[in-house]
Amino acid sequence: MIRLAPTPSGYLHRGNLFSFWLTQELSAHHGQELMLRVDDLDTYRVREEYVQFIFEALPFFGIRWQIGPRSVADLEAHWSQKHRMQQYNHCIERLQKDGHLFACTCSRKQMRSSDASSGCVGDCKLITLQDPELPHALRLKTGGDPQSFSTLEGQGSTLPPYPEMKDFVVRRKDGLPAYQIASLVDDLHFGPWGIVRGSDLLPSTWAQLQLASLLKEQAFARIHFVHHGLINRADEELPNEKLSKSHTAPALQLTSSARSELKEEYLDWKRKEKAAAYLDRSRGSMRA
Ligand SMILES: [Zn+2]
Repeated sequence: MIRLAPTPSGYLHRGNLFSFWLTQELSAHHGQELMLRVDDLDTYRVREEYVQFIFEALPFFGIRWQIGPRSVADLEAHWSQKHRMQQYNHCIERLQKDGHLFACTCSRKQMRSSDASSGCVGDCKLITLQDPELPHALRLKTGGDPQSFSTLEGQGSTLPPYPEMKDFVVRRKDGLPAYQIASLVDDLHFGPWGIVRGSDLLPSTWAQLQLASLLKEQAFARIHFVHHGLINRADEELPNEKLSKSHTAPALQLTSSARSELKEEYLDWKRKEKAAAYLDRSRGSMRA
């Protein structure tokens, strides 16, 4: 099985659809079923209309999944990440017991005024939290080791540590498990054969491989990974501006002309992507 894992903190955009089409093609090519997993853990950002849009837009654009929720109600009842909260917390506790985590009390204001692009801005790592009631995030004491994984062709590849992933958060200050741990635990739970994601998620793959290795969950590194190149926004002046939610990408229109334009654009993107992947095959990722 290969999974699609949209996060409903905004409407799906072109970049998502390109990734999903590629995922569907690759799953058919490798004789794998397609699974829909909705990453709905972040209750502060997830909105019901975004979730509903996933169930409307995917079939409209020809994405058919064999495993996973069929509707918002089905998601809520059987598939939501909320049902796996215990598993996420169990992994966080294991990491904590083995001394891999530290409590970070840095405020948002401190983070904003710091020069550091990531990680804890104070000396939280050196201090033992005296008052457990004090609001704090839990961060991983990240190492500097490269992490190994398998490509879609089953070859080995490695990723260097990414500066932006230094001491990344595994439990947020609001108490919710962070994306990296939830995504890893879900992949261990459902056991996909492959993961197809954009190259903007290479740092996340490194972070999740590190978590898996600390948790001695070797199965994760045996999953077949593809990191594909991203599309650029047609309406952006910056040619390399990545299309992602953080850049407030426009939502998809569910019209037949939008569908054919998108499909055309996808085929064009794929032609370029294939050429780039050929030149860059040794890196185990598609134009990563
Ligand atoms: Zn801190």
